[in-house]
Amino acid sequence: MGSLDGEVAVVTGARHGIGAAIARGLADAGARVAVTHHHREVAEGLAAELGGDHAGFELDVRSNLADPSPQGWRVRFRHEGPCPVCGDRCKRRSLPDERPLVFVGDGYSDRCASLACDRVFARDGLARYLQDEGVSYAPFDTLDDVAAALS
Ligand SMILES: [Zn+2]
Repeated sequence: MGSLDGEVAVVTGARHGIGAAIARGLADAGARVAVTHHHREVAEGLAAELGGDHAGFELDVRSNLADPSPQGWRVRFRHEGPCPVCGDRCKRRSLPDERPLVFVGDGYSDRCASLACDRVFARDGLARYLQDEGVSYAPFDTLDDVAAALS
């Protein structure tokens, strides 16, 4: 019996290094682990290595970059400089070409990127913006809501 018996854990980008170590630790603690990677075969391989009732899924997660420094963490966009669509710094150029594309966001820098996606989950400032623009979106409170809607 582990401290996480009956729990489900999702580990993104897990194949090597810290991601794989976290997945193994969660599995050892009793959780059912959903391993994700942008190559399904890689995720399924690690899930098989874990043994037990674990699964691998293809999931390509895009986010800003975080740089540690003695003054604290600094968040940077993956693509610095102005976006050719909105003229501001935004996440649109980080979007993959594959479709369908689901976007989950809440803030100002999510606006332009969300407009380029097939399905949008929004809350807070992004939800207010999409509402004002008359753009369809699904509201969410937590990522559990998003996962339930996508399953
Ligand atoms: Zn933009």
